[in-house]
Amino acid sequence: MCQDTPLAGSPERAARRLAEIRASRRTVLTAAASGLAFSSAVGAAAPAGAASARTKKRCYVLVTDGCRPDEIEPTLTPNLHALREGGMWWPRATSMPVMETIPNHVMMMTGVRPDRSGVPANSFYDRELGEIRDMDQPSDIRVKTIIERLGKRGFTTGTVLSKEYLVGIFGERATHRWEPELYIPVSGHAPDLLTYNALTSMVDEFDPHLVFVNLGDIDRVGHTDLTGTNLRLLRQAALLDTDTLVGRFIDGLKSSGAWEHSMVIVLADHSMDWSIPTNVITLQGAMDEDPLLGGNVVIADNGGADLVYWTGPSSKLDKAVKRIQQIAEATPGVLKAWDRRTPWLRLGPESGDVVVFCQAGWRFSDPDPVTSNPIPGNHGHPATRSIPFFIGGGHPAVKAGKVFSAHARTIDVAPTVARFFGLPTPKKRYDGKPRI
Ligand SMILES: [Zn+2]
Repeated sequence: MCQDTPLAGSPERAARRLAEIRASRRTVLTAAASGLAFSSAVGAAAPAGAASARTKKRCYVLVTDGCRPDEIEPTLTPNLHALREGGMWWPRATSMPVMETIPNHVMMMTGVRPDRSGVPANSFYDRELGEIRDMDQPSDIRVKTIIERLGKRGFTTGTVLSKEYLVGIFGERATHRWEPELYIPVSGHAPDLLTYNALTSMVDEFDPHLVFVNLGDIDRVGHTDLTGTNLRLLRQAALLDTDTLVGRFIDGLKSSGAWEHSMVIVLADHSMDWSIPTNVITLQGAMDEDPLLGGNVVIADNGGADLVYWTGPSSKLDKAVKRIQQIAEATPGVLKAWDRRTPWLRLGPESGDVVVFCQAGWRFSDPDPVTSNPIPGNHGHPATRSIPFFIGGGHPAVKAGKVFSAHARTIDVAPTVARFFGLPTPKKRYDGKPRI
């Protein structure tokens, strides 16, 4: 679930976070010609003469948040379609568990799974704080991102992130950052037109080697339309708008001559699945009624996935895990309840003790069956794992018109960017693979 608490998108919280970021001694504020303000690291320029500073190579990672691969087609999204057809395309590409926004953006930039990055979900139970919170703190990422690795070698980087919690978690890592002045209430995101303006003015003003962009409209339309009646039309309008902006950005690269030095990676962090109001799963009540589990279970709701935490004595953990699995799997709409220690999941202890996925067409609403998750569009479960994933651009590293049968994943972005810029393989290897 991309939904935040009501406060998350509030002007007060946005203003507070901005004030904190800008109060940092490491940040200078630049007002671009467009009128938009950017935060930049002090002394950001690469040493004169450094090879990294001289290269004309540019990489743009554009995340069309929540876009389904079947939504990229000639009439609705002609620009994205043309970019895909003219470049390298991985039709079997997927998001990684948990199929949520924050963990998959972190996987893109770190190239590693959540048991290494420390970021398995949007919402988790912070055992230290004793509360459920969003993973929106810079320190939530425990490993180096490609942004920092490039920065260390004198390349400049930029983040243009439309969502408040993404601005939060990526923090001051990039050389140049756009931190939206305001977000749409409840959705907690800035509209794509504003994000596009920020991207183009950041490129005009600073021209970073790597820019990481999140376009949030396609996803947010799915979440914020509570009636569902105009969903299809709104979704199509968002796709059309986002596609037009991507097309305009590509045209700009071509007309400036930057295209022949550029690689543009387009992907989504997850896709989207819609549920009708009766297909809602709540596990908290059943857990509370159980003699072993009652009072000892906390659930972090992630839309299509529930993260269940055992808070009782560790001596009873194994027994509790089995009971949680039994109760969850006996509940209509549940696809599977995994012991979090199952090796392939690779989610790490932050994701709790049992990870429960729902079936397609369902959603979780925990702890409250009515108020916790009223939105029809959700992701996080396996039904939402297919994503668009393609690479366009005029740089020779991008091969024209190639389709690959390999299973590309969100964790492949960092190694692909690293190879493009000629970075050495890190000592602790990536979990993902370079795709160029
Ligand atoms: Zn998302």
